[in-house]
Amino acid sequence: MSTATTHGGPQLPQERRLVTEIPGPRSRELFARKQSAVPPGIGTTLPVFVTHAGGGVIVDADGNSLIDFGSGIAVTNVGNAAPRVVERVQKQVADFTHTCFMVAPYESYVAVCEKLNALTPGDHEKRTFLVNSGAEAVENAVKVARHATGRQAVVVFDHGYHGRTLLTMTLTAKSMPYKHGFGPFAPEVYRVPLAYPFRWPTGPDNCAEEAAAQAIDMINKQIGAENVAAVLIEPIAGEGGFIEPARGFLPKIVEFCRANGIVFIADEVQTGFARTGHMFACEDEGIVPDIITTAKGIAGGLPLAAVTGRADLLDHVHSGGLGGTYGGNPLACEAALGVLETIEQDKLVERARHIGEVMLPRLRAIQEHNPIVGDVRGRGAMIAVELVVPGTKEPYPAAEIARRCHEQGLLVLTAGTYGNVLRFLPPLVIPDHLLEEGLSILEKALNVD
Ligand SMILES: *Cc1c(COP(=O)(O)O)cnc(C)c1O
Repeated sequence: MSTATTHGGPQLPQERRLVTEIPGPRSRELFARKQSAVPPGIGTTLPVFVTHAGGGVIVDADGNSLIDFGSGIAVTNVGNAAPRVVERVQKQVADFTHTCFMVAPYESYVAVCEKLNALTPGDHEKRTFLVNSGAEAVENAVKVARHATGRQAVVVFDHGYHGRTLLTMTLTAKSMPYKHGFGPFAPEVYRVPLAYPFRWPTGPDNCAEEAAAQAIDMINKQIGAENVAAVLIEPIAGEGGFIEPARGFLPKIVEFCRANGIVFIADEVQTGFARTGHMFACEDEGIVPDIITTAKGIAGGLPLAAVTGRADLLDHVHSGGLGGTYGGNPLACEAALGVLETIEQDKLVERARHIGEVMLPRLRAIQEHNPIVGDVRGRGAMIAVELVVPGTKEPYPAAEIARRCHEQGLLVLTAGTYGNVLRFLPPLVIPDHLLEEGLSILEKALNVD
């Protein structure tokens, strides 16, 4: 096994290179160790063990170099071991590693909050606080909304995903694998329809209007708008299958929230940080959330998440009512500052749009001659195909196609309530030739008969 460099990052050779079968012998050995040390509840999409990653590739323990269409689930938007992230984290780890921001604060935490207050939609006065994971951000957003409104009910949507803790798995729609066997669930969570154009019973044209009317009617009649603290939604449903709500749906829901004193929370954990060709996906329809939760792409893989929102809401909570030991760890904050610099200086919002412009036409061309591709959708570098049994809308299992891609050295992820969505989340720094090569592998993998 030989790699040209000893470090990851963008200087890794940007090539697909298979020197063993996938997974190779060294990865299989390590996977056997995993199986006896780690419970099966912690699943594995592709059992290759990683040694280096950067740009658009992941290098494994056998020396294979795979094309990365996953970014560790929309986390390494700036690429793995991105230079500005590495430099800042290396300096910070030698200076100090932890004080607890609630015990003795440091500047980088405040700088991240200032940046998020400035970058998130809306020019109203905002506050931000930092936590460790997307689930923790969502839980805290609900805490703030309940505290500020004095109400309890939380409204979520079909196909929504918000995390794996008790409250956030309750907020999540899909039973298997997220909720099955883990009840009882948290109280005061209500689910309403999402405007899912491809599967809307009367077709996509009236989807936004009908879905919004149904959702609002359910809130009014079954919950009572005056009991609702928050409406929580992903601007594009991630785990649910990259469902872009039909245009017009989100503005109608926001308008209803404003009219009824309900806190509108946008969960941008997966859609944030340049991923969709905007800094945040809400910008696409000019949505200004009362609170926005972010995580994944925020810090290049270091654990960090944020709750950003209207100052009057966040200032409502008493001192000591929010926080946590590690929230806004100094290494993660430095990484986030490196990520935000990289997005801005390397123009990654534009780069995400470019990726969409490369991927969407090719995927639509595949759809024309391959009836297993039922729908092609997405924005920027958050793109998916929904697979169907030809001639129907019956779900076709995406895992089978994903496995065929993996064997060829293309890492793709699956998603969807029906497990029939292939989702593509390449690092925004992936070179075009790898994007094209990945699409060619996918095109072949989709030829199932
Ligand atoms: C991943 C995700 C979460 C949970 O984030 P974790 O960091 O895994 O806790 C919440 N909401 C959305 C939309 C996500 O994609």
